[in-house]
Amino acid sequence: MKVAIVGAGVTGMAAAHRLASEGHAVTVFDRAGRPAEGSSFAPGGLVGPGWHQPWGDTARRFGEPGAGQAQRLAWRRMPKASEWSWLWRWRMAGGSVAADDDLAALHALSVRSQEVMTDLQDRLQLDHDRSQGLLVLLRTARDKALAETVVARLRSWGLTCRELDAAAARQLEPALCADTPLAGAIELPSAGIANCREWTLLIRNAAIGLGCRFEMGLAVSALVPRPQGGIDLHRIGQPPLPFDLAILCNGIDALPLLQPHGLRPPVIGLQSCSVSAQVREPLDAPVSGVLDASTGISITRLGQRVRVSGGRLLAHENAPPDPATLRRLYAALLDWFPGAARVAGPHSNLQEWQGTQAALPDGPPLIGPTRVDGLWLNLGQGEAGWTLACGAASLLADGLSGQAPTLDARPFLPTRRGL
Ligand SMILES: Cc1cc2nc3c(=O)[nH]c(=O)nc-3n(C[C@H](O)[C@H](O)[C@H](O)COP(=O)(O)OP(=O)(O)OC[C@H]3O[C@@H](n4cnc5c(N)ncnc54)[C@H](O)[C@@H]3O)c2cc1C
Repeated sequence: MKVAIVGAGVTGMAAAHRLASEGHAVTVFDRAGRPAEGSSFAPGGLVGPGWHQPWGDTARRFGEPGAGQAQRLAWRRMPKASEWSWLWRWRMAGGSVAADDDLAALHALSVRSQEVMTDLQDRLQLDHDRSQGLLVLLRTARDKALAETVVARLRSWGLTCRELDAAAARQLEPALCADTPLAGAIELPSAGIANCREWTLLIRNAAIGLGCRFEMGLAVSALVPRPQGGIDLHRIGQPPLPFDLAILCNGIDALPLLQPHGLRPPVIGLQSCSVSAQVREPLDAPVSGVLDASTGISITRLGQRVRVSGGRLLAHENAPPDPATLRRLYAALLDWFPGAARVAGPHSNLQEWQGTQAALPDGPPLIGPTRVDGLWLNLGQGEAGWTLACGAASLLADGLSGQAPTLDARPFLPTRRGL
């Protein structure tokens, strides 16, 4: 089939590579000149199953996050009229999260994603910063008690997770600050850390090797179904290009392309930040990565750099990194790995970044065909888009091949939400 992929972030590139490897004629379109210039530029790097479960207090609230409040959403602008219902649904979804079957679907997708990533790693020998293993840090006895529900759930799905006391956690991550209270940790041996942008650029090269084409530097302005079947892709000042189908992998920017078709996915853009800095002393840096269950902030080692990442904001899309969130990230770094990175001076190589995640208020992402002929979606992965990219690509490939799916596609189908 002749397939157009809109968006050359990690989601689009994973899909493009997978579909090209199955013999489809794939063209990737991105308004940016290079892949991974959007949300896939500097995310935390957590990959693999387990970490993106709701570890701390599942109640969702608005306002500045503090200790024990990982699920808070802070406002930096007034919500638009169209966003209020999303905010309400997001808040209401919090309390019921433990009973949500959708969590199982999301977990299955992350497991599938990891299988595909591992297979690609073995076959293509991709050379990017990565490490195995992840610790979920539990500061207090309350964090520990809350984590028990998640551990029981993950184990019921067959995932290995080890409950560690503070001493055992410090053996795995010896640079964890001895003065910072730590009640325990959950080790997720099958999760890990990997550099999203590097991987996306490497998989782009692999996709080119499979015949995938790239049309960069110009935004897709419209997608128009053709009466005789298929879909025309429009860009300003260019003749329309015919495809059998188009897959939207462009996150929040898919909305204006879907609106003319009466498709309004319940997705909004939420912002998060990351700080990356040069390792100061390797012995003081994380071996792999940690996630603070109470704040949702991750600290990861990406080669010679340390990256701290977190926050959940409703802000302007192109706003500079939020100062309050950055302060929290620096504070978390100081708290857990005080000597890890150079955060000032000429050799710090400091990068402060804010990215936008396309987030649904509840439920798993939208992956598969819509009710508009030839128009498919691959979006709404929120805070776990890097983790889920290869699983989503696998679902799309199954959907296109018409063969028995490796994963139940139904929870992800856009038609489930009337799209
Ligand atoms: C601070 C932060 C930390 C994160 N940490 C993690 C983590 O640890 N683990 C994890 O799994 N996930 C993490 N995420 C989430 C993850 O980064 C995203 O879910 C993922 O990168 C989304 O990838 P994408 O390809 O869907 O979108 P993007 O990378 O944003 O790509 C979309 C592309 O579409 C292009 N585009 C948009 N509109 C058009 C158009 N009209 N025409 C042509 N091109 C267009 C854009 O230029 C862009 O390149 C984090 C996100 C942030 C912001």
